Amino acid sequence: MHNPKEIDCTCALGIPFKYDRIRELGVPYLNQRWRAYCSRKFNKVLVEMGDRLKDSGILHVDSIKAILTGGCYVDKPGQHGKGNACDFDGFLTGDDEVVLYKAGVNLEVEGYRIRSMSRKLASRIACAISLHAGVVLTEHYNSLHEDHIHFDISRGEKWLNGGSRSQNLVVQAALKYWHDNTVQIDGIVGKQTRKAMKEFLGDSSAGTWNITDTRWKAFLEKVAAG
Ligand SMILES: [Zn+2]
Repeated sequence: MHNPKEIDCTCALGIPFKYDRIRELGVPYLNQRWRAYCSRKFNKVLVEMGDRLKDSGILHVDSIKAILTGGCYVDKPGQHGKGNACDFDGFLTGDDEVVLYKAGVNLEVEGYRIRSMSRKLASRIACAISLHAGVVLTEHYNSLHEDHIHFDISRGEKWLNGGSRSQNLVVQAALKYWHDNTVQIDGIVGKQTRKAMKEFLGDSSAGTWNITDTRWKAFLEKVAAG
């Protein structure tokens, strides 16, 4: 059994994590001593994910001061308890603007402007994360995840046969926001999802077209690139 707190991963993504779950304050928690910890294996995933987020232009090192999180290792059952999970809540910009994953927020608290990120950006981030973590749970998965993206490595980052419900939801949300507004986000891949994905990939091949692991990864990369 590995130690779930092997590594201090506060800066693993290249921009420091900041804990922001003290909701009554409304603003990011200002305890400078707060640190994120995770397993060695998960830390490696975070470092690679951070490179992708920076290379794809999602994380701007100059303008983003912190990544808001509920933490990685958390003393509870499941993947957090193993140090193999993380919750992404949003960003804190250099202008003290809080940009949340949660939709429909627009307010000002103690000098911080707090707003939601666009759904386009939210789905772009979910796609980038999906290239590194096999389980990615978003606002479409259930109401517990309406204010954060949970990701963990309990499953490999492979397209499961037919897609898992959470994978399908990430794909459909990206299609809706990046390609065709009429795509239903229902977690079930059918004709409409396949057709939209094929179009988005610019694939004109004839015959039966199914989502494969290679096509899924190409799709995630294209959305992540913006
Ligand atoms: Zn979580």
